[in-house]
Amino acid sequence: MEITQRKKQLRGILAFIEECEPQIFEALRQDLGRPVFETSVLELGSLRTEIAYALENLASWTAPRPVRTPLVHQPGKSWIEYQPLGKILVIAPWNYPFQLTLGPLVNIIAAGNSAVIKPSELAPYSADLLAQKLPNYIDTQVVTGGPEATQKLLDQKWDHLFFTGGSRVGQIVLEKAAKFLTPVTLELGGKCPCIVDETAHLEVTARRIAWGKLINAGQTCVAPDYVLAHDRVYEALTAELQKAITHFFGNNPKQSDDYARIINRPHMERLIALAPQADYDLEQRYFAPTLLDHIPDDEIFGPLLPIVPVKNLPAAIELINSRPSPLALYFFSSNKSAQKQITQQTKSGAVCINDTVSHLGIPGLPFGGVGESGFGAYHGRWGFERFSHAKPVFSRSTRVDMPLRYPPYTKMALRIANWFQGGL
Ligand code: NAD
Repeated sequence: MEITQRKKQLRGILAFIEECEPQIFEALRQDLGRPVFETSVLELGSLRTEIAYALENLASWTAPRPVRTPLVHQPGKSWIEYQPLGKILVIAPWNYPFQLTLGPLVNIIAAGNSAVIKPSELAPYSADLLAQKLPNYIDTQVVTGGPEATQKLLDQKWDHLFFTGGSRVGQIVLEKAAKFLTPVTLELGGKCPCIVDETAHLEVTARRIAWGKLINAGQTCVAPDYVLAHDRVYEALTAELQKAITHFFGNNPKQSDDYARIINRPHMERLIALAPQADYDLEQRYFAPTLLDHIPDDEIFGPLLPIVPVKNLPAAIELINSRPSPLALYFFSSNKSAQKQITQQTKSGAVCINDTVSHLGIPGLPFGGVGESGFGAYHGRWGFERFSHAKPVFSRSTRVDMPLRYPPYTKMALRIANWFQGGL
């Protein structure tokens, strides 16, 4: 796809967001009871940033990148050309139905590919809006449906599969991809820990953890899943968290316009099983923000926040390293050497220091998991490269043709060749 065409398509996504904004707000109100502010800032705002960043950088991303040619291969020139992969399937979850379909699409189009989008059937208002309106703005097909429709799509040959969701379905996607040797990106589950040490600014820390946890009622892949608090600040942090939650949503969050709902009944039932003592309303899909004193094994994906004490930083690091690698790790501390220890001694998709979730909004940073949280990062240049083939090209002059490499081989030729190659 020509660069001008790519830019036109990217502007098409922007036009969809601008012109359909009221319908997007309404779809997410229906699907998730999501406040307009959260949709506007977290979902549409980050898409606008991603599009603006791609438009601004497309010329430099697509330009061939020269590479140094060693002496032994002179005279000649070497460079990398970025070629589109072809046709890409995007399979998305329900929790951010626009960001997790259109976000990858921005990178896919920037790299010159075409795409088919399969939104989640569990956010039906959002999926229908995408299916009905998006094709009026760009040349992208939207296929709606659940597991069966997805499996049908996976039975076709694609040039890349981009999947965001849980690890169970991630395995199905990988198995299907194996048949055609299709390259895959898997953006999987969260279980993101927060560590709070004794030097953290507790009031700010509590606000930032409570915010990251409770946007979209905890149904965010990078939401803090649990908190490990240093013994000495455990009680004070618990009190600050409670204070922050009351400050955000009042004494009865059910009455607050700023607190989202749980996607459906099975997810409500899953959360109730984790915390039967919590305040909830099954019919209204309301589940109150709730602090827990133990860490469940599975990803919580809801407004439950376990907070447990740890005796020191090495104990917290050991606990985290004994579990599957999370998508993000949050560390609250004003101790620089402890911050370095965390980035160097733990394995996670990303580290965010003294904040939660916000690293996603920085388009220069890659976003993706490691180990059990998935593989293959996107956003910005990283997404452009993810959906491109970096094709190496070497072009050699015919003006000089050293006989050195051709038979009959001589000892002298070997010595010269070794000398050249050792020195580059
Ligand atoms: P999911 O894996 O159940 O579904 C994702 C997609 O797969 C949907 O489009 C669905 O229709 C399809 N699907 C479901 N069952 C299928 C099957 N048997 N065969 C083929 N396709 C099938 O995930 P979800 O419940 O929609 O989303 C929640 C999960 O996604 C959480 O684990 C969350 O952490 C993760 N997530 C990850 C990121 C990230 O960027 N890493 C972002 C958001 C959500």
